[in-house]
Amino acid sequence: MPGSARSSGRRLARIAGIDVVFDASWLIILVLIGVTLAEYFARLNRAWPMAVVIAAATVTTLLFFGSVVLHELAHSLVARGHGLPVHTITLFVFGGVSELTREPDDAATEFKIAIAGPLTSIVTGAVCVGLGRLGANSQPVFAVLNWLGYINLLLAGFNLIPGFPLDGGRVLRAILWSANKDFVKSTRWATNVGKLCAMGFILLGVMEFFAGAALSGLWLAFIGWFLLSAAQQSWRQTEIQTALERFTVSDLETPFFARVPPETNLEVFISDLAAHNNFRASLVMDADDHLLGIITPADLSRVPREHWGTTLVRDVMVPRERMATVEPAEGLHAALRKMAESDVGQLPVLNNGGVRGVIRRDRIIELLHSQLRQP
Ligand SMILES: [Zn+2]
Repeated sequence: MPGSARSSGRRLARIAGIDVVFDASWLIILVLIGVTLAEYFARLNRAWPMAVVIAAATVTTLLFFGSVVLHELAHSLVARGHGLPVHTITLFVFGGVSELTREPDDAATEFKIAIAGPLTSIVTGAVCVGLGRLGANSQPVFAVLNWLGYINLLLAGFNLIPGFPLDGGRVLRAILWSANKDFVKSTRWATNVGKLCAMGFILLGVMEFFAGAALSGLWLAFIGWFLLSAAQQSWRQTEIQTALERFTVSDLETPFFARVPPETNLEVFISDLAAHNNFRASLVMDADDHLLGIITPADLSRVPREHWGTTLVRDVMVPRERMATVEPAEGLHAALRKMAESDVGQLPVLNNGGVRGVIRRDRIIELLHSQLRQP
C-alpha cells in the first residue's frame, strides 16, 4: 500500500536504497502467524516431527514477510521510476506501507504505482502454487510453497478491494481521475467506496461473531475498523493538501524575525531573548546580511551553563548547509512538509540567496483552520 504517513520504526534492512523498518505491532503479527502456521503444519501432517513443524513454520513466516516486502518494493521502485522517491517501507500489523514523499502528479502514474504491488503478489502467488503442484503436501517444501502461493493470492485480492487507501482504491481513484480530471472529487469517491467496504467488513465481522465464529468475526471487524480510520485519515490529508494548494509561502511569510550576529556569546544571546520575550529560533546573520545558520534556545542545552559566557552562537548554531529553507513561490503544503522533516517550527524564506523573511508553522495552521471551517 503506498501511503504518505511518516512513521518511525526500527530498521530491519536496506534494499535498493530504501529502508525497511518495522512497527512494534509487526512483532505481534509475526509471532501470531508463526504460531498459527505451526498449528496448521502440525495438523496437515501428523507424521512430521516437532522440529520439522517448527522449521517449516519459521521459514514460511519469514518468506511470507519477504513477499510483503516484495509487494511494497514493487510500489516503491515504480514510484521512484516516476520521480517520486521512497525512503522507507514500514511493516506493521496489516502488512506494509511504502512511504511516498508526495502524491503522484497524474492518473497514469498513480495507476502504475498502485497496480505494481498486487501484480507482484499475483505473480509470486502463481509461481509458488505452480511449484507447489510439483509435489505432495506431505513434503515440507511443497506444503510451504502451497501456503505461500495461497497467501500471496489472498494478499493481492485483499489489496485490490476498490476502497481508498488500499491499492484497489488507488486504482479506482486513478481511473476516475483520468476520466473526470478532478483529483479531489476522485479521492472523495474512492474514499467513500473505501468506507463502504470497511463498514461491510465490520458488519460481516459482527454477523460472524454472533453466528459463533468469535475470533474470525473479531478479525473481520478489526480489519474493517482499520480500513475505516485509514480512509478517514487519507481524506483528511487530501483536504489539508487542497486547502493549502491555493497559497504560496509569499502569501503568509513575515519580514519580522529575530536575528543574531555569529560572535554573540550565549549569555548575551539568551538574555536578549528573555528581554524580548521571544523564545523562537533566531537567524544567525553577519553584518552583510549573509545567512550563516539558525539557533534555537534548545540548541543551548548542549552547552553546560558555566560555558555560556565563553561560547559563541557560531559554535552551537545549525549551519546553513544543514538547515531547511523555502522560496517565496513554494506551496504552503511543501513548506509544512519541510518543517516536519527537519522538525522545526519556522523556515527562512530566501530570495536570490538573501533572507527576506520567515514562514511559521503556527500561521500555516491558523490559515488551515480558517480554510477548513469554510464549507
Ligand atoms: Zn500494496
